[in-house]
Amino acid sequence: MRRRTTSTVPTRTPAELEAMEAAGRIVGRTLRALQKAAVPGVSTFELDEIAETLIREAGATPSFKGYAGFPASICASLNDVVVHGIPRKNTILQEGDLLSIDCGAILDGWHGDSAISIEIGEVAPDVAALNKATEEVLFAGISQMVPGNRLTDISHAIQQATRKVGKRAGYRFRVVKNFGGHGIGREMHQDPFLPNEGRAGKGPRIAEGSVLAIEPMLSLGSPWTEEWDDGWTTVIEDGAYSAHWEHTVAATSEGPRILTPRSE
Ligand code: MG
Ligand code: MG
Repeated sequence: MRRRTTSTVPTRTPAELEAMEAAGRIVGRTLRALQKAAVPGVSTFELDEIAETLIREAGATPSFKGYAGFPASICASLNDVVVHGIPRKNTILQEGDLLSIDCGAILDGWHGDSAISIEIGEVAPDVAALNKATEEVLFAGISQMVPGNRLTDISHAIQQATRKVGKRAGYRFRVVKNFGGHGIGREMHQDPFLPNEGRAGKGPRIAEGSVLAIEPMLSLGSPWTEEWDDGWTTVIEDGAYSAHWEHTVAATSEGPRILTPRSE
């Protein structure tokens, strides 16, 4: 027998969505600044300083700093590091790198959470294709963020798009296992967990005002990860390049509303 849950993804009022977007805009603006600052010769530590300064100048607080003991305001994940890379003075960006930056801010108690991958100078064709694919796959997931859908409609869309985009580009991209999106609001990570693959039509129903952080991670090699001894840095087990894109998104009667926009 197929079990169908009657629960919904937690919803926010229009005023709460405004408050979340105010937090999200700070994240978007910060990521845009980092996109410009991330050039060969710059350390991920310097990028972290830029991020913290921008977030605090906007009157917000970095969500990540101190979260479960994380030491920085951004995750800076280079090449085979897929998530949770710690910014370091001796991690210097080089031509050909793919840098994933994940960033969060809290404003008036509400969280915004967003990630982008940045090509440093010119990257290899397969790395460029991976990066473009991951962003495209994010938007395939976002397109399912509409009232009436179920949670795993997003998961399924991400999985299907990964296959389709890979086929078109002539590569095999893999959805990274064991990581995914999440509910978000007055805490950065809330239920439900949002898998990046799986069958459609399962999990809680998306309602008007539901908010999720949608965040596909793709690999050019293995879909499996390993964690370093620092307790954070998560790498693709076979050393393949990986990319990560994320938006905080609300479901509205007019369609998906991105709460972490990077353009004004
Ligand atoms: Mg994030
Ligand atoms: Mg997230």
